[in-house]
Amino acid sequence: MTPFFEISQRIEKISQDALELCREQFEKIDRIAEYNQLKVQKAFIKNSISESHFTPTTGYGYGDRGREALDRVWAEIFGAEDALVRHNFTCGTHTLATALFGVLRPGDKMLSVTSTPYDTIHNVIGIKGSQMGSLQDFGILYDEIDLKDGRIDYDAIKNAVDSTVTMVYVQRSRGYTLRPSLSVSEIEKICEIAKSKNPAVIVMVDNCYGEFVEKREPCDVGADLTAGSLIKNAGGGIAQTGGYIAGRKDLIEKCAYRLTTPGLGREVGATLGHNRELFMGLFYAPHTVSQALKSAVYISAFFGSIGYKVTPEYNEERHDIVQSVGLENPESLVAFCQGIQSASPIDSFVLPQPWDMPGYDSKVVMAAGAFTMGSSIELSADAPIREPYYAWVQGGLNFHSAKICTMLAAQQMENRGLLK
Ligand SMILES: *Cc1c(COP(=O)(O)O)cnc(C)c1O
Repeated sequence: MTPFFEISQRIEKISQDALELCREQFEKIDRIAEYNQLKVQKAFIKNSISESHFTPTTGYGYGDRGREALDRVWAEIFGAEDALVRHNFTCGTHTLATALFGVLRPGDKMLSVTSTPYDTIHNVIGIKGSQMGSLQDFGILYDEIDLKDGRIDYDAIKNAVDSTVTMVYVQRSRGYTLRPSLSVSEIEKICEIAKSKNPAVIVMVDNCYGEFVEKREPCDVGADLTAGSLIKNAGGGIAQTGGYIAGRKDLIEKCAYRLTTPGLGREVGATLGHNRELFMGLFYAPHTVSQALKSAVYISAFFGSIGYKVTPEYNEERHDIVQSVGLENPESLVAFCQGIQSASPIDSFVLPQPWDMPGYDSKVVMAAGAFTMGSSIELSADAPIREPYYAWVQGGLNFHSAKICTMLAAQQMENRGLLK
């Protein structure tokens, strides 16, 4: 029985049964983690990474060997010609925006083929009209293709891509929707179709939450650019901030001109001592992602087995680390988040409350007891207080920790007479 925490017999039993259900998935997750760990390790060895790469630079940061080596290692692991990995990408949105502004020019057209992108990208594109300096303000056109029954509409892509489309934009993760995440095989098919209609088209993939979930990454299967946040999967729970772009060499150069300035590009950017953490985070990432995946599978098995709607199901194939749990009413959402928070290593004493959040049209309750603020490779839950009352859960630096958080979440619900 669980030591140190008070857990009811019933929850212990549900947990035991859930673990039993998870076994096969856990083995699969371990196999992928080992493959990716060896891939990462090989790239470190091939590039002779040493302590000297961790030396901080200041000022302009000219000739930072660590920064240059990190880009090379990253490119190799992500199946790309080149990469730009920087602590001063402030978040995933900033990283994606840098890539979009880096390669698109006035008159170009961006076509999202995975329906409307993640919320924070709307202002970048200018979907709702904007004076903020969005892509639209600079004369870049935008269009999107809806999903068909929640899946990619390949025929519509075939019809829409022609010589006027500069970029096909793909979001791998479901984000905070209930659609399934995209497999790398599906991304491969999108690349094939798009390029058969326009060989010059740039396929860009928002890779957030997807890194190291499968053996292959988007650039392995024909994507030209991919980008993500370092306080999600690829930072391994160790990077304190940052982002990366990986892809075709000529495109990465353009992104570097956008990140700093035309002409200077990637030659500047002091790393201030961040290199060690970025290397170490990358080294840990395959393992950390496996822990987050096991946490998601367990949560799914736990709540699914007692009659809650969960997506994905515990035995479904996964392409990102996001798990949603339909908790059916506001009281359960709040109890769930408060329970997770109460077992978190950081800020366990904080009691999450539903609150108005910028960018949301309903109140949101969140649990985030993390070492890095806003990190979502650490166990976190977000729940907008609105129908259908789903909590979105992601992360888990280590499975044992996420497991007790899940049990305490259920315990909070049981204590309040809410658990099914
Ligand atoms: C997290 C995320 C982003 C970027 O979000 P930030 O909060 O700015 O890091 C973009 N797309 C998807 C699918 C994401 O999950």
